[in-house]
Amino acid sequence: MNIMANTLDRGYFMYQKEFEDKALEVLRSGWYVLGREVSSFEAEFADYIGCRHCVGLASGLDALWIAFRILGFGPGDEVLVQGNTYIASVMGITINGATPVFVEPDAYYNLDASKLEEKITDKTKAILVVHLYGQASNMGEIMRIAGKYHLRVVEDCAQSHGAKFHGRMTGSFGDIGCFSFYPSKNLGAFGDAGAIVTNDDRIAEEVRIFRNYGSEKRYYNKVVGTNSRLDELQAGLLRVRLRHMDELEQQKRGICERYLGELDGEKFELPKVREDATHIWHQFVIRSDRRDELVEYLKEKGIGSIIHYPIPPHLSEAYRYLGFQKGSFPITEKYADSVLSLPLYYGMKEEEQSYVIEWMNRF
Ligand SMILES: *Cc1c(COP(=O)(O)O)cnc(C)c1O
Repeated sequence: MNIMANTLDRGYFMYQKEFEDKALEVLRSGWYVLGREVSSFEAEFADYIGCRHCVGLASGLDALWIAFRILGFGPGDEVLVQGNTYIASVMGITINGATPVFVEPDAYYNLDASKLEEKITDKTKAILVVHLYGQASNMGEIMRIAGKYHLRVVEDCAQSHGAKFHGRMTGSFGDIGCFSFYPSKNLGAFGDAGAIVTNDDRIAEEVRIFRNYGSEKRYYNKVVGTNSRLDELQAGLLRVRLRHMDELEQQKRGICERYLGELDGEKFELPKVREDATHIWHQFVIRSDRRDELVEYLKEKGIGSIIHYPIPPHLSEAYRYLGFQKGSFPITEKYADSVLSLPLYYGMKEEEQSYVIEWMNRF
């Protein structure tokens, strides 16, 4: 058998007719950017998350940097963020000239709230919370600390569409929730797409103006903005997938419950789920001290796997200027050396799951 780490066309074929009908409808409409599909998607997604506003953007990275730009953070300002995130989270901060301050992750691969306070200085302005791999972070404690020190909270929900903490959706806790709809995300488009959600009317309005060259009215520009518009085709296709989110979430949960129940927990460190949170399984991440050997072994058996992420941002060449070395963040680095994401995608067949489980347990 040959099983890739991800197989995106399966998720397309599940609703092929609906996607194709929508694509044709948009193509024939004569309106391709920021139109009816975009405003309908914005209303539906805001409703899904439980926020007053959603503003569609061109990507998840745009959502992040525009969020910090609108909040007004730049050179001299510090933003707390977990060390083991995808590098885009960090770029969202540094594109604006602000400084990321890394915090070690907890046992759930999310920001360790008990280590936040020791990193707060008089320059700290915000916390960027990343709900990594699809599990909601410890929002109770994080919001309490943010309130105590008057910090803004931005949530990176690129991997957590639909994940909840205490029954409330990720993205609805902070000042701004940032989403990516990159094709491989749980709510994925068929190209690049992103959005911000917020309950703040003024923030929503500013992002709406900023994404379209800073103009509210055509050729009347209020601020120096950018071009980060969502197109009609992506918005329409996202609306189709959004209608099936509950069913899609159940499907991934079913696969991951099998993995949790049948993979050898003595051999591998299996993912843990908080009692007060839900996990929407963007990735199923295990840890092994013999990770690199495991990757090779799985490859021989025809099983693909991915490392999210092999080089933590503080050790990447891009952030050498921050001055960190190996050893600066031991937990983050230990995770980078041992994590492995197993095959997981919509439409994954039972025999494919069994094949992965069988060869994993024989390692
Ligand atoms: C995918 C991702 C992003 C970036 O989203 P793009 O749409 O690819 O720009 C940001 N943060 C995290 C945690 C992600 O997984």
